[in-house]
Amino acid sequence: MDIRTQKTFEALFALEDIRETLRQTLPNITNPEEEHSIKEGVNRVRKILDDIENGTGTPEVRKIADSIDIRSREENYINIQPIQAAGRLTPEARKALIAYGDGYSTCDACRKPFRLDKITNPPVAPFHEQLASFVNMDVARVVPGARRGFQAVASTLVNKGDSVLVSALAHYTEFLAVEEAGGIVREIPLDENKIVTADATAEKIEAVRQETGKLPVLVMIDHFDYQYANEHDVKSIAKIAHQYDIPLLYNGAYTVGVMPVDGKDIGADFVAGSGHKSMASPAPSGVLATTEEWAPKVFRTTQMTGDLTKRKFGVKEVEMLGCTLMGSTLLGMMASFPAVKERVKNWEEELKKSNYLIDGLLAIEGSRVVSEYPRKHTLSKVDTTGNFDVIAQNHKRRGFFLSDELSSKGIVGEFAGATRVWKLNTYGLSWEKVRYVVDTFEDIANKYKLKVNKGTSDENKLQIRNSDKKGDYSNGYK
Ligand SMILES: *Cc1c(COP(=O)(O)O)cnc(C)c1O
Repeated sequence: MDIRTQKTFEALFALEDIRETLRQTLPNITNPEEEHSIKEGVNRVRKILDDIENGTGTPEVRKIADSIDIRSREENYINIQPIQAAGRLTPEARKALIAYGDGYSTCDACRKPFRLDKITNPPVAPFHEQLASFVNMDVARVVPGARRGFQAVASTLVNKGDSVLVSALAHYTEFLAVEEAGGIVREIPLDENKIVTADATAEKIEAVRQETGKLPVLVMIDHFDYQYANEHDVKSIAKIAHQYDIPLLYNGAYTVGVMPVDGKDIGADFVAGSGHKSMASPAPSGVLATTEEWAPKVFRTTQMTGDLTKRKFGVKEVEMLGCTLMGSTLLGMMASFPAVKERVKNWEEELKKSNYLIDGLLAIEGSRVVSEYPRKHTLSKVDTTGNFDVIAQNHKRRGFFLSDELSSKGIVGEFAGATRVWKLNTYGLSWEKVRYVVDTFEDIANKYKLKVNKGTSDENKLQIRNSDKKGDYSNGYK
């Protein structure tokens, strides 16, 4: 590990200690003890900075509050973990976390009508407008995760016993949102390519009508599912749903924030996105956007009056429980947003990297890609039963041999111990890192005498290999 990572954390922590002293002082007055403590703090930081500059020193701070490890996975490793890739924070988001970490920090300038999405300083209100236009919808709210978006919609539309159509690859949180509302999920089957089609949706709607005498009240579709990250035909599905007058919730947990999403073009009535999965935001964060038509329903305001006090809370939105992300979570999301808006334009390049990596794995004889191929997403499911799992059978570390080999080369995030079917995500990795990952997999394959068909499996790969200079790893992994 590069000691500079550890020392950078130590410097940040030491600066926080100085900050704490400044918080304790009287306005503009520091007593001698505080002056002393600041001076000591500065000296400590200076020493740490020397260590960063020279790459010297040993770890001195191991834990936060005696029990919490420093998390330096993103600094020290290449992380290919399937759900973490696009939730990595931008530096701006990390700065916002530092500055807005205190509890209700968004509320300094909260004025009438006292609702989060109306706050103008920090610019929370404009952010809400930008969020809506980002997914081309009319109105947006921030929510603690895509799942809370599903929950708000289900709670609004679903009554006891109502059917809700979801895909046979639906995320569990869609099940729970429907269950909580008292509804019943009905799954749309996949075709032979593990894709949800409009035809299958129409058939399922008819089947539900036949069986229950009622139409489903909602269709929820994941644009890219979490299991294979296959692309499903959301636009045609929305068309079918609308033919039956059923609203459509577009689940963009794996799309909003990584690729362009146009809710109106899709025909979505609701768009749910995940801040911590795909918008470089802290957890729990997300977005729920809707149309002018549905906004008054899903974002309806309270009608309740207290029987004793006669109090009413007029503008508070029931499904939002008033306010949602009241502190650094929201500010982190806002701070990443300019970068997120830009990065969705680079989706094609992300796909090239994704396919390059998959091709590299496929070049190792015995590999299969379980997701649709070529890849249309950076998340993929691969099957290495035919190569790495064969090695695992006779290895004393069993399946862990692969994670051992990878982590010794600075790669983490594949499911430890898994050598058969596992997922990875290349989102946000530089070409240099993607090439490094491919080369590492192929080196491991060579080490265990697996056959590698270098450069022959795919023209695309050949081209990329020839056109870009291969990375130089002669310094080795630090
Ligand atoms: C991750 C995921 C979710 C949950 O998103 P949260 O923001 O964590 O609530 C929902 N649906 C799909 C398809 C997902 O991949």
